[in-house]
Amino acid sequence: MYKKVYIEITNNCNLDCTFCIKNHRKQKFMTEEEFRSILDKLKGHTKYLYFHLLGEPLLHPKLINFINLANANGFQVNITTNGYLIKRLLIVKILDRLMFHFIVMTQNIIYQLMII
Ligand code: SF4
Repeated sequence: MYKKVYIEITNNCNLDCTFCIKNHRKQKFMTEEEFRSILDKLKGHTKYLYFHLLGEPLLHPKLINFINLANANGFQVNITTNGYLIKRLLIVKILDRLMFHFIVMTQNIIYQLMII
């Protein structure tokens, strides 16, 4: 059993942080089919999914769908975000399910969100 698994649902980002290693791969948003396939493979191997590696997960147009799919399959979702698009979660009334952690770096604040 893994303690947690990171899933990069997109490598697109809306910022250009000085400390970022910079992403030179082709920009992509994970499809729902790909996400469902990953969920199937991870069942029984972890409880916690982290939607972050590089990229800004709140940019993904199917983020809420992905959160709901993950929850429906028994996973708890954590999101690390630069916070600029946090209103997207407010619009779909998911903010009341969030727990916040703030990580302050030299110039930027990184938010970690746990959806309960
Ligand atoms: S928010 Fe993250 S992925 Fe985006 S530029 Fe900053 S460090 Fe890189």
